[in-house]
Amino acid sequence: MKITFPHMGNAYVAVKVLLDGLGLDYYMPPVGNRASFERGVENSPEFMCLPFKTILGNFLDGLDHGADTILFGGGSGQCRLSYYGDLHKEILKSMGYKFNYIHLTLNHLTYKEIMDKLGPFLHGRTKTTVTKAVTEAAWTVFAVDGLYKKAAHIRPREINRGEANRIMQHFEKRVQTERGFHNIRDAILEARNALEKVELDPNANPLKIGLVGEIFIASEPSCNLDIEKKLGGLGADVYNTMGVSMWIKKHFVEAIVPIHGRDKAVDAAQPYMHIDDIGGHGINTIGNAALMSKDGLDGIIQIYPFGCMPEIIAQSSFRDIEEKYGVPIMTLIVDEQTAEAGYITRLEAFCDMLEMRREMRNKAGKKLLGA
Ligand code: SF4
Repeated sequence: MKITFPHMGNAYVAVKVLLDGLGLDYYMPPVGNRASFERGVENSPEFMCLPFKTILGNFLDGLDHGADTILFGGGSGQCRLSYYGDLHKEILKSMGYKFNYIHLTLNHLTYKEIMDKLGPFLHGRTKTTVTKAVTEAAWTVFAVDGLYKKAAHIRPREINRGEANRIMQHFEKRVQTERGFHNIRDAILEARNALEKVELDPNANPLKIGLVGEIFIASEPSCNLDIEKKLGGLGADVYNTMGVSMWIKKHFVEAIVPIHGRDKAVDAAQPYMHIDDIGGHGINTIGNAALMSKDGLDGIIQIYPFGCMPEIIAQSSFRDIEEKYGVPIMTLIVDEQTAEAGYITRLEAFCDMLEMRREMRNKAGKKLLGA
C-alpha cells in the first residue's frame, strides 16, 4: 500500500511524521507544484471552489506516482465541502484510476471513526506505536505553526531584510526531504534557533494586520500568493487566525478529548450573525474579525476563493464590525486566474492607507495633548 495526501499549508510536515511513525509507505506531492495544480483545474467542474481543484491536482499527482490509497480529511456541512469526497472519487474513477479512499469526516470526527477508518491499514502496529506516532505528529503541527508565527513577527522588525525568509526557505527545503520524527524535529529546532538569533529593530512599530477567511486559502501559500510573506515585506506584522494548528485542534484534538470550552470566535460572532455555523469557517471569520478589531489591530484582511458561500455570508457582517470598531476590513477573492501584480497593488494600497490612518490618529492625539 502506498498512500498519498493533499497539501494544506504546512500540514504536510505533521502528516509525514505521522505516516513515518506508523511505518506506512507514502508519496507526497511536491509543494506548490504548478503543473499538478493546472491538471486539477482542468479536470474539475468549473463551479467548484479553488481548494477542490488544488486537492484534485495533488491526488492526480500522487496516483501518477504509484500511490494506491488516498488519505483525505473532508467534511459534511452547509457548503460544497460535503461533495468533496464523492466528487473527487467519481472524477478520478472516470479517468481510469483505481485506488482506496480513506475519507475522515472532520465535522463529526471521533476517536472511534479514526480507528475504524485507519485500523484496517494498521495491522501489526501496537497501540504504543500508534499513540507515539499521533503524539509526535501533534507536537509537530504546533511546533511548525509556531515557527511560521515567529517568522511573521520577525519580518517587519528584522534589521537585515529577508533574513526570516531565508531561514524559512532553508527549513522548507530541508523538511520536505527529511524522514522520521527525529530528523524533522531537528529541522524545526534548527529553524527556531536561527529565527531567535535574527537581529530586530527595537524601535520598530509595524502595522498589525489580522488575516481571516477560508482556511485552505488562508493557510496555503500557493493559493494565497504567499500573503504572509508579502505583507511582511510591506512592513506588516500578520496574525493569521487560520493556521493548521487551529484546524487540527478543532477537528482532531477536540475529537479525541471531547472536553473543551465554547469557541471564543463563535461567541464573538453572535451580535452579527445569531447562529453557530454558516458553513466552512465563516462564523470564525466574523468572530475573529470582531475580536481583532476590538484588540486594536490596524486592519483586517479576509481572503477566500471565488464562490465560497460561507465567506460571502461572513463578508456581509463586516460593515457592522467596521462601524463598531472603526478598523478597516479588506476582502481578497482568489481563483485560478488571480494575477499577482493586481493582488500586490491591493496589498500595498491597503498598507499605505493603514499607515496614513495611523499618522492622522497620532497627529490628532498630539493636538489633543497640546504638543
Ligand atoms: S468553505 Fe468555501 S472554499 Fe471551502 S469547501 Fe466550502 S465553499 Fe468551498
